Amino acid sequence: MRNQGIGSWPARRARRTPHRIALVHEGRQTTYRELHERVLRLAHALRALGVRRGDRVAYLGPNHPSFVETLFAAGTLGAVFVPLNTRLAVPELAFDLSDSGAAVLVHAPSETAAALEVPHRVSLDDYEELIARSGGEPIDEPVSPGDPCMIMYTSGTTGRPKGAVLSHANITWNSVNVLIDTDLTAGEVTLVVAPLFHTAGLNMTCLPTLLKGGQVVLLGAFDPGRVLELIETGRITQMFGVPTMFDAMAAHPRWAGTDLSSLRTLNCGGAPVPMRTIETYLERGLAFSQGYGMTEASPGVLYLPAEQAVAKAGSAGVPHFFTDVRVVRSDGRDAAPGENGEIIVQGPNVMTGYWGAQPLARGEWLRTGDVGRTDEDGYAYIVDRVKDMFVSGGENVYPAEVESAILLHPEVADCAVIGVPDAVWGEVGRAVVVLRPGSTASAGDILGFLHGQLAKYKIPKSVVWAETIPRTPSGKILKPALRVSYAAPAAGV
Ligand code: ATP
Ligand code: MG
Repeated sequence: MRNQGIGSWPARRARRTPHRIALVHEGRQTTYRELHERVLRLAHALRALGVRRGDRVAYLGPNHPSFVETLFAAGTLGAVFVPLNTRLAVPELAFDLSDSGAAVLVHAPSETAAALEVPHRVSLDDYEELIARSGGEPIDEPVSPGDPCMIMYTSGTTGRPKGAVLSHANITWNSVNVLIDTDLTAGEVTLVVAPLFHTAGLNMTCLPTLLKGGQVVLLGAFDPGRVLELIETGRITQMFGVPTMFDAMAAHPRWAGTDLSSLRTLNCGGAPVPMRTIETYLERGLAFSQGYGMTEASPGVLYLPAEQAVAKAGSAGVPHFFTDVRVVRSDGRDAAPGENGEIIVQGPNVMTGYWGAQPLARGEWLRTGDVGRTDEDGYAYIVDRVKDMFVSGGENVYPAEVESAILLHPEVADCAVIGVPDAVWGEVGRAVVVLRPGSTASAGDILGFLHGQLAKYKIPKSVVWAETIPRTPSGKILKPALRVSYAAPAAGV
C-alpha cells in the first residue's frame, strides 16, 4: 500500500480481522471489512465532488459511524479532515469553515448545518444512498506519515479556538503511546460518549481501539442513564470521560442497580479528577486511569495508570513512552522537583503547527501554557493554566488548587475561583459557588472551611452564589465568561 496514513487503517484491519466488529451504533454493527468497503465508497463519492489530496473535508454532527468513515475516507484521498464542534453557533462554525477552507461539509441534518455556506455538502439524510451508488474500486493514493491528517480546533477554553494541524504520524504515534502504556486489547469494547470532535474522544479511545482491532460503541449524546444501561447491556470494558460525566453517572438513580462488572478501566482526562469522584467509584471497585494532554499533542502527554491513582493521588502521571516533558521556570531553566514551572512537550505526537501559522521548528518544544511540577519520582502534577493564575500580595495563587479544596465541602456541588482587583493585595480570590439543593451554607461557612487547609493568601475574600458554573462540553470551566459575570467589584458578598 502506498498509503501509510491512517486512511489505510480500515484496509489493513480488513486484511487481518475482517469479521471482527469495528463499530456499534444504536444496535447496528459494522465489521472491519464492511468499514473498509464503506470508506472506499465514501472516498469515491468525495472524489466525485472534487476532493483531492490536501483539500479539507469538514464534519459536523454528534458521534456517529459516518464521522469515523469520513475521517478515513479523507485520509484515503490524502485530504485533511476537519471535525467541527456541534456546540458552536453559526458564526463560529462559519469561521472554522472559512479558516480551514473546507471544500466539503459532511453533516447531520440540523438548522445550524443548513445555515452554513460551503462549496459542497453531504447531509446524512443522503449519506447511505451516496455510499450505495458509489464505486468501491481500490484507491492507492500515496500518503506519507508526515502529511497533514486533520485540523483539529482546540476547545476554546481561554479564547478563540486554534486549528492544530496533526499529521498521520502524530495521530499514529499517539495511538502507539496509548497501546504501549495502557492494557488496551483486541478484545476491548470501548464506549465513546465523549464528543468525537474533541481530541480525547477521537484520539485517546476511538482510534487506538480501532488500530488494535477492538470494538467501538458510539453514543451520540451523553445521558447518564443511557450510559449506565449501555455499559451493562453492551458489556463495555473501557470508557473515557471527563469528571462531570462520571459525577452525573454516580448521581443517577440507576447507578446502584447497574451491573458494572464488565468494566476494566475508566479513563478520565481533560481536567483534574476530584478526589471524591475517585472515592465514589472505588466503592464500586472501579479505579480511574488519568491523563493530561492537549489538542496540540494529539493529545496524550502524561498518563497515570489506575493502580497508581491512590498512591499518586493528584498526579497526572509520567510522560507517555515516546513523549518528553520538561517543567521550565520563567528564566528558561529546568525547575527542580517540587518547583512550579511551565510544562513544555516534545515528541512525535506533537502537531506540526497551527493552521495558517509558522510550523513548529525542528526540535522546538510545545509551550502548553500550563503550570506544573514534578515530584522526586518524576510524577507530574498539573497546577493550573498560566492565564488563570493571579497574584495576591506578591504570592502566586492557582485557582485550581483552591477549587479542589472548596469542592471537599460536603454542601458544595460545584465551584470556580477567579482573581478580582483589590486595593490592598493587588488581586484577591473570589469563589463562585453552586450549593447542593437545600443547603443553607453561608459564605462564612465556606471560607471558614478553608482555614487550616490552605494558606491565608489563597483563601478567597468573597463568595458569590451561582446556579451553574459555565463549562465547555468537556467539563472545563470557562474562566473568561466567569470573569465577565462575576469579576465586577459589586458582585462579591
Ligand atoms: P484553548 O487552547 O482553545 O484555550 P483548551 O486548552 O481547553 O482550549 P484542549 O486542547 O481541549 O483545549 O485542552 C487542553 C488543556 O486542558 C490543557 O492545556 C490543560 O490546561 C487542560 N488539561 C488537560 N488535561 C488535564 C488534567 N489532567 N488536569 C488538569 N488540566 C488538564
Ligand atoms: Mg489550549
